[in-house]
Amino acid sequence: MERSSRFYRCVNCGEPFSYLNVFSFAGEVEAIVHGTCEICADALADAMAIVRDGDEQRDNQDNDGPGG
Ligand SMILES: [Zn+2]
Repeated sequence: MERSSRFYRCVNCGEPFSYLNVFSFAGEVEAIVHGTCEICADALADAMAIVRDGDEQRDNQDNDGPGG
């Protein structure tokens, strides 16, 4: 098992961090904090936004009884 390489690979896609998937300071922070490359961090943030949106839309339906 390699020791220090784990910290330098994206936990999502498994690619080693490089200028190809980490190209800004924000991406570097993501890599250190979340362990994901900038591309994956971006995709995950996108997916989370969609999930959150769908969750809030389902909060407005409480009247589901039969109309009678
Ligand atoms: Zn990745």
